Amino acid sequence: MTELLEQVIKNRKLLQNPYAHIEYLELAQITASRLLYENPWAHIEDLDELGRLPAQWNANWQKRKNYTIAEIEQHARMLQIAIWQRRDELWHGAVPSNPIELLDPKIALNSIGYVCDEDETLGQFYSDGKMVEVAGIIDGPSKQVRISRQFPNIVRNFTAAHELGHALLHEPRIMHRDRALNGETISRDSCEYEADKFASLFLMPRKQVCASFKQLFLTDMFSLDEATTFALGAAAREMLMKGNTTLRQLSRILADAEQYNGRHFKSLASRFSVSTEAMAIRLEELKLVNL
Ligand SMILES: [Zn+2]
Repeated sequence: MTELLEQVIKNRKLLQNPYAHIEYLELAQITASRLLYENPWAHIEDLDELGRLPAQWNANWQKRKNYTIAEIEQHARMLQIAIWQRRDELWHGAVPSNPIELLDPKIALNSIGYVCDEDETLGQFYSDGKMVEVAGIIDGPSKQVRISRQFPNIVRNFTAAHELGHALLHEPRIMHRDRALNGETISRDSCEYEADKFASLFLMPRKQVCASFKQLFLTDMFSLDEATTFALGAAAREMLMKGNTTLRQLSRILADAEQYNGRHFKSLASRFSVSTEAMAIRLEELKLVNL
């Protein structure tokens, strides 16, 4: 038995709490196992589930500026674990059977104490030198998010996920307005960039996108050749036959594909309720597409 384990058991007895230091214990077990197997990535899945308790992670989290993409992904993942653990309470017992439907930014906002409502319109504001329709508002101090019904579902979903990113990463101290967002443009402002990145990582988690991709296209990485071009069906084939296909064009075709190898299905973009472009970018990030 390791020294740490002995210490934990002693302390549990002392505190009369069988769960004291649970996070350290699991972390220590994982660390020991990693050393044993000489694999620094061993049990990474378990570490996510057990290494840090989401409630503690929420309470202690220091919000700041300038996150790395890995940090933003970790936050999205931790929030998803917290939502999964509280799914019965958050969905009032009617938990969706499809795990992708659990990636609901409005429910996620509720889970961190925000109220999220939709309004017919949120008015207009001045952005990038012109007046534009407000698509989303986040009010940090009163913990409220409002989404405009003036935009299609995909935009509403991405905008809500963007506000979720602000709530979690930045906790805005004043009211913040956003124009319509769907993951197609990259913002120059660091907070806006981080909220966009968070939205994309929250709505399209690595594990679920890779699993769905493999289920539809029967591979871990799609490479364009005669057989795969044929399997995509006549419409995609016609586009690809024109030649000079770019990676982005192919990614868009895969994001929108509703058939492969004679099987018909719901496209990846609509499964995850995101735009074609947002899914195409994510497929490239995950290195699922190759020309
Ligand atoms: Zn924003």
